[in-house]
Amino acid sequence: MAILEIKEYGEPVLRGKALPVKEIAPEILNLIKDMAETMYADSGVGLAAPQVGVSKRIIVIDGEEDGLIVLINPLIIESEGELEEEEGCLSIPGIYSLVKRSSKVTVKALNEKGDPTEVTKEGLAARALQHEIDHLDGILFIDRIGRMERQIALNKFKKKKQ
Ligand code: ZN
Repeated sequence: MAILEIKEYGEPVLRGKALPVKEIAPEILNLIKDMAETMYADSGVGLAAPQVGVSKRIIVIDGEEDGLIVLINPLIIESEGELEEEEGCLSIPGIYSLVKRSSKVTVKALNEKGDPTEVTKEGLAARALQHEIDHLDGILFIDRIGRMERQIALNKFKKKKQ
């Protein structure tokens, strides 16, 4: 296992549309293990493959009491409620903003064995699921906030990078 380098805002891979996984080959399983290790090493609650430079539809989530949740080709099939809470991203370190999300979501996906699976989550895990699935379509949380707020957040991020 290995801790992978996290791609930060500005890297093109974060803006691409990730490709579906067609076969869960050994290198995919290795990638998933490394993604989980990387997520926990950075105290993240979720990580999407594009964040480690791999444009494939794979996410890992810390499911709290359920432990690690691995979702391949995930799709939100149900969502309800609305909740605005502070959100951050390992690819935009140090930046936090209030983001409106559904409060509860159900996601359909394949697990690492290739079996169909469904996960329903509320609270932080529901937020993480929506955030990470956004990454697979090249969407970042700062795209979901107001234009002014985004400008302030990005200026702050650029200053930190200097
Ligand atoms: Zn993120």
